[in-house]
Amino acid sequence: RPLLRFAPSPTGPLHLGGLRTALFNHAFARKTGGHWILRVEDTDATRTVPQSLEGIQHGLSWAGLDYDFGPGRNGPHGPYIQSERLDLYHHYAKKLLDSGHAYRCFCSPDRLTQTRERLARAGLNSTYDKHCLSLSFEEVARRVHAGEKNVVRLNVSPSNHALPDLIFGSLRDAHASLPTDPVLLKSDLFPTYHLASVIDDHEMGITHVLRGEEWLASLPLHLDLYAALSLTPPKFAHLPLLLNPDGSKMSKRKGDVQVLDYMRRGWEPDAVLNWLALAGWGAHTESSSQGDQVSRTVKAPDSTTVMSLSEIIDNFELDALTHRRTTLDFAKLEYLNKHHLLRTRTTGPGLDALALRGQRYIKDAFPNSTFTSLNYIKKVIVVLQGRLVTLMDLPTAAPYFFVSPPWDDGEARAMLNGISMAAYQNVVRGTVQRLKTTSPWGVQTVVDALHAESGVAGIKSARFMTVLRHALSGVKNGPSVAEMMDVLGQQRAICRLKEADN
Ligand code: GLU
Repeated sequence: RPLLRFAPSPTGPLHLGGLRTALFNHAFARKTGGHWILRVEDTDATRTVPQSLEGIQHGLSWAGLDYDFGPGRNGPHGPYIQSERLDLYHHYAKKLLDSGHAYRCFCSPDRLTQTRERLARAGLNSTYDKHCLSLSFEEVARRVHAGEKNVVRLNVSPSNHALPDLIFGSLRDAHASLPTDPVLLKSDLFPTYHLASVIDDHEMGITHVLRGEEWLASLPLHLDLYAALSLTPPKFAHLPLLLNPDGSKMSKRKGDVQVLDYMRRGWEPDAVLNWLALAGWGAHTESSSQGDQVSRTVKAPDSTTVMSLSEIIDNFELDALTHRRTTLDFAKLEYLNKHHLLRTRTTGPGLDALALRGQRYIKDAFPNSTFTSLNYIKKVIVVLQGRLVTLMDLPTAAPYFFVSPPWDDGEARAMLNGISMAAYQNVVRGTVQRLKTTSPWGVQTVVDALHAESGVAGIKSARFMTVLRHALSGVKNGPSVAEMMDVLGQQRAICRLKEADN
C-alpha cells in the first residue's frame, strides 16, 4: 500500500505551495487506498517559529486534509517530529562513518570561508575541498575524544545519475561538475534536512515522495545517500513551482500566499483546493507507444473543472500532472469559489456550515442587527447564490436583509424617476393590505398576491415592481421581489414597506 508524507518545516505559517503539496499527497493516498503522514521537519532550531505546527494543522483541517499519522495521531512509524528522532540519525551517521561513506570535518568557520573564497576564485562551484577526508583515523579519534567541534560530511564523488522522477521524467544531472560534500550531522548533533529526510523516508516506509520542485536539486544527493546506505529509494514526484501572476516565484514572503488569509477572507476550502489542484494539472496528456500497440490516454480535468475534494481524489492521476510551472490566476479562484457556493444550494450540512461561517461576517458588519440567526442566513445564502463570490460578500451583496436600506441615497432616488409620491404610496399601501392576508407565506403565494395587486394599482407592472424593490432594498439589483419578501418573512416584509412609506 502506498505510504506518503507531507513534511513541512515549522518555520512559519502554511502557505499555498505547502497546501498544494499536502493536497496531492492526500489525493494520491486516498485514491490508491494508501495513507499519508504529517512529519515535522524541525531540525533547524534557528529557523523554527513557535506555533507553526498548530498553524499548519489548523490549515490542513480547514481544508479537510486529514493525515492518517502524525502529531496527535500516533502510528507505527512515530514519533513524527524529527527532533524526537535524533538517536536514529546518529545511528545512521555512524554507519556511514564506519563504512567510509562519510567523514568528520573539524574545519573552523574561518577556514571554511577562506576555502569557499578560494574555490570561487578558481571558478569552481564547490564550496569545500574535502580537507578533512585525509585526516588519519588516529587523529580523528583524538580530536573527537578531546571534545573538538565537528560535523559529519558525506563523501560525494562526481556522478551522472539518471534522476527518475514521475513528473519530470528521467533527468540527467546535475552533479557531474561537483558538489560540495554536504553536511549530514551538524556540530550540535542535529541532522541536516538531507540526512533526516532520507532516513525518515526509509524508516517510515515511504513509497512515494511528492514534494515541491525546489527539492529536485537535492535529489542526486538523496540518491547518493540511499546508495551509500544500500537502501532502495522511494519513488519521487516533484510538483512544479507555483508562480505569481507576474511570473515571479511564489514565495512565503510575497503576496497572498498564506492559507490563513484565505481562511479569514471567506474563501471556500474546496475552491482553494480546486484552484491548487488545477495548477499543474490542467493538461490533457496523451501517450502512446506504437511498438507494442499500447496506447493510453490520461484524462485530466480541464482548467476550469469545478471539483470538490472527493472529486479531486476520484480524478487524481499522477501521470496527468505536468512539470510546467503554473501561474495562480486569481480570477480563476473567484470563478471556482462562486461555483462552489452555487453547488451548496440544497439544505444540508454544507449549507449549515456556510451559514455558520457567514454569520461572523454579518455580525461584524451589522452588530445591531437582530436578523442573524443561522436559519435566516441560510435562506439569504440560498437566495443570493450566484451573486456571491465569497461568503465575505454577504453583508455587501444584500445589506437590506439585515438592516433597513437608505431609501434616499443616490441609487435609491434614481430608481424612482418618473414615479410620483402618490403612486408610490398607493402601491406600497395596497401591497401591505394584500400581504397581511397572504397565507401560507411563500414565494408562490406572494407572487400571486403581487400579481393581483399589480392588476388594480393603476401603474405599469414594471413600475409597480420597482416601487416595491425600492421599498424593500433601496437598490436596483437583487433577487426577485417575491424572493426577497419570502426571505424577510411576512411580518418583516410588511414592516419594511410601512417604514419605506414614512
Ligand atoms: N521540510 C521540507 C520543507 O519544508 C520538506 C522537503 C521534503 O518534502 O522532502 O519543505
